[in-house]
Amino acid sequence: MAITAPWQRELRDSIRDPRRLAELLGLPAELAVRARAGASDFPVFVPPSYLRRIEPGNPSDPLLLQVWPAAAEADAPHGFTDDPVEDASFALRPGLLQKYAGRALMVVTGACAIHCRYCFRRHFPYHQAPPSEPVWDAAIDALGDDPAIEEIILSGGDPLTVTDARLARLAEQFAAVPHLRRLRIHTRLPVMIPSRVNDELLNWITGTRLTSVMVIHANHAQELDEEVAAALRRLTTAGVLLLNQAVLLRGVNDTVDAQAELNSRLIDLGVTPYYLHQLDRVRGAAHFEVSVERGREIIAELRRRLPGYAVPQYVQEQPGAAHKMVLA
Ligand SMILES: *Cc1c(COP(=O)(O)O)cnc(C)c1O
Ligand code: SF4
Repeated sequence: MAITAPWQRELRDSIRDPRRLAELLGLPAELAVRARAGASDFPVFVPPSYLRRIEPGNPSDPLLLQVWPAAAEADAPHGFTDDPVEDASFALRPGLLQKYAGRALMVVTGACAIHCRYCFRRHFPYHQAPPSEPVWDAAIDALGDDPAIEEIILSGGDPLTVTDARLARLAEQFAAVPHLRRLRIHTRLPVMIPSRVNDELLNWITGTRLTSVMVIHANHAQELDEEVAAALRRLTTAGVLLLNQAVLLRGVNDTVDAQAELNSRLIDLGVTPYYLHQLDRVRGAAHFEVSVERGREIIAELRRRLPGYAVPQYVQEQPGAAHKMVLA
């Protein structure tokens, strides 16, 4: 496939080697040597547009920590597993999950625009659900068979790594299912590669009868620079409802100040804070865990500082429950 759009060049030019990442950021080379073990099963992947927001020479930068394959990834404390949310047991069809009433989630692709080291899908068996039209078509048939499903959630991986031509076709197929009302997209791309929010994307997202909802994923205010602000403005101007989900991460956003700044900035950019997730206990991510007790303290303090609409719900995935469990 010809790589034409600027966002596709960002993907092509992404950094895939911890040594290169350390070099570009002026970090000690020995840091990268220790990191290499962690990078083998889930490689480093950082687009240039995100790299530019990382402070050079700072090994504790909150954006760097999200992508850095720390030696601690080799730790496997009891309770940290490969599929902590038990997604594998909620498949309706390959690539289509239903855990909650009225909403089905489609794994459109295994590809992402960044590899987040804390990701609960870092061991997901994507190869069993290859992102191809026949798999999507079978998933759409299954949606058509169940009139109780009103909302389709595109997830992954990151659905916006797929071309707009293919996404436009998918959006048309969804719109043809009479009982579907909403199209929700879970994506990190507008934050990671803001040039992804181009005219082609806006065309299919606004050209459907379905109500479009986009849930972006930012964990720290430093991610939300002027380019991201402009991309989000294009989406809100087009009438897309924007929500944010974040993950509570040790060393990244586990202070009241970091959370207050993130959620205030989101509101200023037209994005409503939706969920703050307790970390899913995936193998390799134990060093990011913050206790639920500490998470609740942070939320309590946020409620004192921020307007009610700027405080996200603090939630945890609980396999088998009828909805995400609200912790605070
Ligand atoms: C989180 C999740 C959803 C969406 O839940 P909401 O509470 O509506 O945001 C849907 N399906 C799956 C499998 C999920 O994990
Ligand atoms: S973008 Fe989302 S799915 Fe992809 S690695 Fe990050 S958290 Fe996981």
